[in-house]
Amino acid sequence: MTPEFALIEKYFTRPVRRASLGVGDDCALLPVAAGCEIAVSTDTLVSGVHFFADADPRKLGHKALAVNLSDLAAMGAEPRFCTLALTLPRIDEAWLASFSAGMLALADAASIELVGGDTTRGPLSITITVLGEVPAGQALRRHGAQAGDDVWVSGELGGAALALAHLQGGIGLEPGEFAGLAARLHEPQPRLALGLALRGVASAAIDVSDGLIADLGHICERSRLHASLEWERVPMPALLAAQDMDHRMQCALAGGDDYELCFSAPVAAREKLDELADSLALRLTRVGRLDMGRPTVEVRDVAGLAMALPSLGFDHFAAKEGAGHES
Ligand code: ADP
Ligand code: MG
Repeated sequence: MTPEFALIEKYFTRPVRRASLGVGDDCALLPVAAGCEIAVSTDTLVSGVHFFADADPRKLGHKALAVNLSDLAAMGAEPRFCTLALTLPRIDEAWLASFSAGMLALADAASIELVGGDTTRGPLSITITVLGEVPAGQALRRHGAQAGDDVWVSGELGGAALALAHLQGGIGLEPGEFAGLAARLHEPQPRLALGLALRGVASAAIDVSDGLIADLGHICERSRLHASLEWERVPMPALLAAQDMDHRMQCALAGGDDYELCFSAPVAAREKLDELADSLALRLTRVGRLDMGRPTVEVRDVAGLAMALPSLGFDHFAAKEGAGHES
C-alpha cells in the first residue's frame, strides 16, 4: 500500500452508513432521496490566509467542516455527505490524527459522512465539499425577501472579529477574557437546526461569513430591496459591547467568521420565531427591516439617523491594505 493510501485508510476512512460506496474506489456512490434536491457547497481554507500556520489541528479540522456546514444551514439543507481535498507540506502523523479527530467529531455530531477526497503535497490547504438534502423547492435562497419583512440574526455578532483583532495585536484583552472569545473564532457552531426550522418560515437566508453588512447586502441585491438596520438592536458579546464605538461597529457589522445566520421573515412570523429561539435555546434578534429602494444596507442610530459605516467584508482580490484578515 502506498504511504498516501495508508494515511487515507488510517485517518479518513470510516464504515459507510448512508452512502452506497464510500472511500476507496474511483468515485463514491450516493443515494438521493426521492423528492429532494442536493445542495452542494465548497470552501477552502488556506494556511496564512484563513488560519495561522501553527493553528491547533483539531480546531482546524472542526472549523474547515464547520464553515461548509454553515452554508448548508443557510440553505435549510440537511447534511449528508462530504469530501476532503487535503494539500500537506509533509506527512505529520500527529497533525493528521488531531485534524481528522476534530473534523470527524463534528461530522458525527452533524450526521455527515466523509465519502472521498484527494491528498496531495504542497502548501497546507484544506478544501471540503458538502452535500445536503432539501425537499425540492424548499431551500432558503437569497432572492425571496419581500418589502416589509423583518431582518433577523442568530446568536451574537463580532465575537470572532474581536478575537482576531486581539490575536493581531489591535486590542488588549485579558487572557481569561480572550479564552471565552477564542472559541467563536476557532470553533464556530454551524446553525444547522435553525436552518432546518426556517424552511417555510424565512423568506431569504445567508450565513454571516464576511460581516453582516456585506452578507445582508447579498440578500438586498438578489431580492432588490433596501435594508435598514437599528444599531442598538445588533446583538454582540458583552466584551465587544465594552469596546469603543469604532471597534464595536467594525467587528459587529463588518467582521467576518461568526457563521451566524441572517434571514428575512414576514412580520406575521415574529411570534413563531420567538418560540423557535426558546426551543433551540438560541438567541434570535430582529435587527431591522427590508423595504423598496436601493439594494443597499443602512444602519440607523437611536435617533433614526443613518450612521457612517465601517469598511465592508473581506474580499480576497480587493487591492487594499490589511491583508491577513481571516474570512
Ligand atoms: P484517484 O487517483 O482514483 O483519484 P486517490 O488515490 O486520489 O484516487 O484516492 C483513493 C481513494 O481515497 C478515493 O476513494 C478518494 O476519494 C479517497 N481519498 C483520497 N484522499 C482522501 C481524503 N483526504 N479524505 C477522504 N478520502 C480520500
Ligand atoms: Mg485522486
